[in-house]
Amino acid sequence: MARILASPGKYIQGKGVLKDLGKYVNDFGERILGIIDPVVKELYAEELQSGLAGKELIMETFGGESSKKEIERLAEIARQNNIELIMGAGGGKTIDTAKAVAYYTKTPVMIIPTIAATDAPCSALSVIYTEEGVFEEYLFLPRNPDIVVVDTEIIARAPVRYLVSGMGDALATYFEASACAKTKVQSIAGGSQTMTALSLARLCYDTLLKYGHAAKKAAEASVVTEALEKIIEANTLLSGLGFESGGLAAAHAVHNGFTALEETHDRTHGEKVAYSTLVQMVLEDRDPEEIEKVFAFCKGLGLPTTLSELGVKEIKEEDIMKVAWASCAEDDTMHNMPFEITPEMVKDAIIAVDRLGR
Ligand SMILES: [Zn+2]
Repeated sequence: MARILASPGKYIQGKGVLKDLGKYVNDFGERILGIIDPVVKELYAEELQSGLAGKELIMETFGGESSKKEIERLAEIARQNNIELIMGAGGGKTIDTAKAVAYYTKTPVMIIPTIAATDAPCSALSVIYTEEGVFEEYLFLPRNPDIVVVDTEIIARAPVRYLVSGMGDALATYFEASACAKTKVQSIAGGSQTMTALSLARLCYDTLLKYGHAAKKAAEASVVTEALEKIIEANTLLSGLGFESGGLAAAHAVHNGFTALEETHDRTHGEKVAYSTLVQMVLEDRDPEEIEKVFAFCKGLGLPTTLSELGVKEIKEEDIMKVAWASCAEDDTMHNMPFEITPEMVKDAIIAVDRLGR
């Protein structure tokens, strides 16, 4: 199998980069459809407009779910207006929707994440949910976003919970890529792992442990520091490249399982992934000291390490079993693990993590 690394066309990160937006989109055309999160629209509509300096921008408010219906609605607007570039500004679901709309309308896409909560901005993948917010499927796209623009000043002003969630999502990257390195399974990028992808995943993990705490403090004060810049890069670029070209495994499969449990719906993707990373570590029988280190990291940042912190008030075995079954679904990434994993094993690991976390 050929080694494949996928990446966005260009990645731009820095304080105040939004004001140069026009410069970055010059090669793509004049008519832009902005798919914008409602909160982002309220806060940054003017900045987006003035950053695009003279381009024609149609702003559409994102409806809230990256569902097939919402994607079709926006694609229709793009078609009717002969749009030349899709711009997605907001969180993970807004971004995933923008990427999907760009795919269906065969249009280039620029992604402007306004939070560093997931590794969605850089990847050629959209997660599709039902209109009720239950995981439905992965939409694999033929191309990564053409441009990703991350204004760190905006990220610093966003609620800290998102930055921490992004660290939860990024935490899984190294462990999942390592599992896939063992199985030599085909990554989402469509080939076997490059050394580069695994190294980026490792750099992601090391950066989190080293700068995570300091970055959280900076974000709490809404200031941009080098530590915050590094964590934003880890959450967005390193984790994005690492998961896409390194592979997903148990952690994201367990996360997908948790979305079947109503009680966890208030928890972010990254919060569920952080807990699910611990579940993967238990399944793998990792060194207790290493597991302890990751527990300490999560607790230090306020990422959930117990089921009650995940929103599960009363632990019912049949509910956990439902999560476990869903995480072992035929087409999910649990099967990228280097050994066979049964729903029973997943259920036990989920409960074990809860006990360790108390
Ligand atoms: Zn993720």
